[in-house]
Amino acid sequence: GVGLPGYEVPEWKQQAEGQNASFGIVSTKSMKEQRESLPIFKLKNQLLKAFAENQILIVIGETGSGKTTQMTQYLAEMGYAKKGIIGCTQPRRVAAVSVAKRVAEEYGCRVGQEVGYTIRFEDCTGPETRLKYMTDGMLMREYLMDGDLKRYSAIMLDEAHERTIHTDVLFSLLKKLLKRRRDLRLIVTSATLDADKFSKYFYECPIFTIPGRSFPVEILYTKEPETDYLDASLVTVMQIHINEPAGDILLFLTGQEEIDTACEVLYQRMKKLRPKPSELIILPAYGSLPSEMQSKIFEPAPPGARKLVVATNIAEASITLDGVYYVVDPGYAKQNVYNPKLGMDSLVVVPISQASARQRAGRAGRTGPGKCFRLYTELAFKTEMLPTSVPELQRTNLGSVVLQLKAMGINDLLNFDFMDPPPAQTMIAAMENLYALGALDEEGLLTKMGRKMAEFPLDPVLAKTLISSVELGCAREVLTVVAMLSVENVFYRPKEKQAQADQKKARFHQPEGDHMTLLAVYEAWENSRYSKPWCYENFVQARSIGRARDIRKQLLGIMDRHRMPIESCGKKFQAIQMAIASGFFTHTAKRDPQEGYRTIEGQPVFIHPGSALFNRNPEWVIYHELVLTTKEYMRNVMLVQPKWLTEVAPNFFKTSDPRQLSKRKRKEKIEPLTDRFNPPNAWRLSRRQPRRG
Ligand code: ADP
Ligand code: MG
Repeated sequence: GVGLPGYEVPEWKQQAEGQNASFGIVSTKSMKEQRESLPIFKLKNQLLKAFAENQILIVIGETGSGKTTQMTQYLAEMGYAKKGIIGCTQPRRVAAVSVAKRVAEEYGCRVGQEVGYTIRFEDCTGPETRLKYMTDGMLMREYLMDGDLKRYSAIMLDEAHERTIHTDVLFSLLKKLLKRRRDLRLIVTSATLDADKFSKYFYECPIFTIPGRSFPVEILYTKEPETDYLDASLVTVMQIHINEPAGDILLFLTGQEEIDTACEVLYQRMKKLRPKPSELIILPAYGSLPSEMQSKIFEPAPPGARKLVVATNIAEASITLDGVYYVVDPGYAKQNVYNPKLGMDSLVVVPISQASARQRAGRAGRTGPGKCFRLYTELAFKTEMLPTSVPELQRTNLGSVVLQLKAMGINDLLNFDFMDPPPAQTMIAAMENLYALGALDEEGLLTKMGRKMAEFPLDPVLAKTLISSVELGCAREVLTVVAMLSVENVFYRPKEKQAQADQKKARFHQPEGDHMTLLAVYEAWENSRYSKPWCYENFVQARSIGRARDIRKQLLGIMDRHRMPIESCGKKFQAIQMAIASGFFTHTAKRDPQEGYRTIEGQPVFIHPGSALFNRNPEWVIYHELVLTTKEYMRNVMLVQPKWLTEVAPNFFKTSDPRQLSKRKRKEKIEPLTDRFNPPNAWRLSRRQPRRG
């Protein structure tokens, strides 16, 4: 199978047939030669000296210069591995895993031995692990358990320019910790120009620059704005392939679905081309790609063929591809943004920043002089794009982070030393939600419930659901539901067999809704003894449901450690529904007399056509999430009784006074009122106020 395009082997089929396409080409350079040819190697001695002389160091350097893979190993050579663990954080899960694999190979061990990684729900480290790659969120969790990070001798906050929430919070936590722990080293790396700002924040620490090994990149803009960037990008790729000399192509798109579609369309178009051009190997690259496929993007194309990698912005800086001469940049990326209208985060496609655009173009100049095709005008670049992206802290829901900071004993959040503080309003909104969940008390301090919630690597609403289920005697089932909700795409729905897939799924549908349907699917799979053939038969993605099983196991472990009893409620689904309502009550929607539903915020929404409740239309529902396609759809919907809501969320709903209702209404139902409470004054102030009297 040389040159099998990635999308030709969909995951389920690949599992079914046990195929594994591989190019079988090995790099001719030895590992040692490869390491020594990296730009960072020439500066190794200076770098070691700088490490030795400074507690904090900012390192900037082009992507691919060797920062992520080499510096941890240099620190190990200096003896830091003997003093403790050398930790290296990554904003993205994929990067943590892929880099750990590479470094293990260079180090000559298996992943999980001296070199390992930890990402949420997956711990691939052991007692020998000294070089540990992890997501920034995981290091924050470790800080929650040990505020001195005693196990670590050095920490590298990698890709700091990404400015994820967790990296931003770690900035501040580590800044303080370094004063307590003079023996701990911190390295902050960045691909861009924020270095001065970082240095100023970290007590004016020195900046070490690794000169890039980069070649000039010619930038081409479109004359007119493109109306269909997807089509334009495919046409551009084909033009490059036909007209330009050898060299791989990197195309930036926004997400998995778009990438899969683009690969498929392009493959079909290439097949029809006459005269037949040379081979174009099309490879998708995004976060949730199975790792066998991911490692293929690093392999060189066979002689005579050209490689095209269609990637999300993971290829912007977190992973490095050699041999790219052409970059096609439509100028968009997906970003998590808090939507006040929906009261939740959603992924939206936004224009990238100028810094990102430069970073993308730079990918074409790593191996030789390259070209970058920007599918936007020069004017748009100069006038419409922001110089740098907005830090995540300033645009997303802070619930999880606020809960964790409170659990660390940091109460004065409005005076927390953020490099760029989030808007006070977002912080207060997060605290309001935590109050409604019962995680904070009226003074904004962590409650017992809040402390328990912080133990789980879950969004606060899911953590609350899980903890409530213990009291309600249905933890066995709710564990499954929470695990199933934490993975993507359990159901497989191929274009050619949609009706058949839908039929199979419908057999699991439960009258209470999609959560119970997910439970039924999982239990049926459990009864089949986790069989793969069962998955193909039922159009269930074996890998996703397998991941749900892993997640379930991890969560169960946490619950066991805290001696929470795991009981089953059998077929008494009401307990499960109440547990879910206790976490997701802000996601309540009521049937609209005209059409569809209305959320608490009054937003019109609709039941997703794939839902077990589609066409059933119960009066009150709770949804897991909203997805915007042609309409604002509720995905994973569950039936709910309004009287449960007042019971499980007394801080948020109250029963309306029957004397103020009409006779008809009184008979009809108890109305939960959204009691948009006034948050206690203490939250608006930076410090706890002494109580009067
Ligand atoms: P930086 O962090 O400075 O961007 P890295 O240390 O990630 O650089 O990468 C250095 C080099 O290591 C890359 O140019 C690439 O050749 C190689 N490399 C990194 N990750 C992998 C991988 N997963 N597979 C193969 N080669 C890799
Ligand atoms: Mg790197």
